[in-house]
Amino acid sequence: MTLVICQHDLVRRVIRPERRAVTQGVPSSILGSRAKLRLRSTFHFFVAASIPKAHVTLITPSSHFFYNIASPRILAKPNVFRPEQYLINIPKLFAHHDSNAFHFVEGLAATIDQDNRVVRLVGRKEIPYDYLIIASGSTTQSTEGVDSDIVPWKARQNGQTLECVMESQKKIATAREIIICGAGPVGVEFAGELADVLRKDKKERRITLISATDRVLTQVNERVGCHAMTVLNRLGVEVSRGSRVISASHDTASARWIIKLDDGTVMSSDCYISTTGPVPNNKFVPDHFLDDQGWVKVDAHLVPVYAIGDIVAHQPRTVRAISEQLPVLLATLEADSQGTSSDRRLNLTYSPSPKLPS
Ligand SMILES: Cc1cc2nc3c(=O)[nH]c(=O)nc-3n(C[C@H](O)[C@H](O)[C@H](O)COP(=O)(O)OP(=O)(O)OC[C@H]3O[C@@H](n4cnc5c(N)ncnc54)[C@H](O)[C@@H]3O)c2cc1C
Repeated sequence: MTLVICQHDLVRRVIRPERRAVTQGVPSSILGSRAKLRLRSTFHFFVAASIPKAHVTLITPSSHFFYNIASPRILAKPNVFRPEQYLINIPKLFAHHDSNAFHFVEGLAATIDQDNRVVRLVGRKEIPYDYLIIASGSTTQSTEGVDSDIVPWKARQNGQTLECVMESQKKIATAREIIICGAGPVGVEFAGELADVLRKDKKERRITLISATDRVLTQVNERVGCHAMTVLNRLGVEVSRGSRVISASHDTASARWIIKLDDGTVMSSDCYISTTGPVPNNKFVPDHFLDDQGWVKVDAHLVPVYAIGDIVAHQPRTVRAISEQLPVLLATLEADSQGTSSDRRLNLTYSPSPKLPS
């Protein structure tokens, strides 16, 4: 039996922060946590324990997994991590597993041919499968440089994440004014990390965080949001509240961004970074698998299309949600491969919790 997994999800399972780089909803600089990454392989859990006969093929555009949840700190504080701490070699990580059980393919899935059970990659290579698991996750506008300076909150689709991280670090370190759009966990954490750097460096620079609502961190309870706001103010971050960005355009002549808000305010800066919501990586996924927002439609058993992680229509899109989805997907796959779906599916289901824990 061949399982083909489009993406990194297995790898993320084997990477555990010793202390979390990012705590849900609160800037890590505010908590003072220090991220130390420790690797632990739980691949055997998937293959050996759950589906012993499976041959797993992992398709992904880069040989290196990007530990993106630490990206606010990686980008604001270039000296805190070495690249090998946040870009982890995937084949090496799986090297001690039987080559009959695991196969790594560096490539980008272009189409799924359901009739012939084949995934076609860019460049036309074909990978056959018995079961296909879609775990292609999400990207962000700024990762792809859409209406924002390019800032890789997620892995780059062209596989050039390290180059992009280094360029962004340089841009951020030399900008005099930085406007951050979006006061969710990423925007708040990044503003906190940046302000922490500037406080220590005593540089004359300006950081503005734009929140569309009158609070920050609306995803968590109000007390946490208020605390984050107090700390941001103390660190010297200007928070613009209650108006949303309606346009952001880059003027090449002056090399400045012009940002317009819906209350008529116009701002300008030499660096503008969007941290707004996830965009599904779904170009290779047939339309009938997707909901009207472009996410893969699944039920509580993570079928009819096997899918896991950010790409599924459930919210929230977090690593924690993936940990909760994984046993469900494994049980579904195991049951389907043994022809016992109806019994097993009654037992284990995934129910998303709409709010982030705080
Ligand atoms: C800045 C930031 C900080 C975050 N911090 C936290 C946190 O502290 N805690 C938390 O729980 N969550 C956090 N999250 C959310 C977390 O990153 C996501 O929930 C998680 O990355 C989802 O993992 P995934 O494997 O589903 O998708 P992704 O991490 O998006 O990985 C998908 C992979 O698939 C690849 N891919 C895409 N399309 C194709 C294709 N066609 N063919 C082959 N490969 C493809 C992509 O290149 C990517 O490598 C954060 C997110 C961001 C942006």
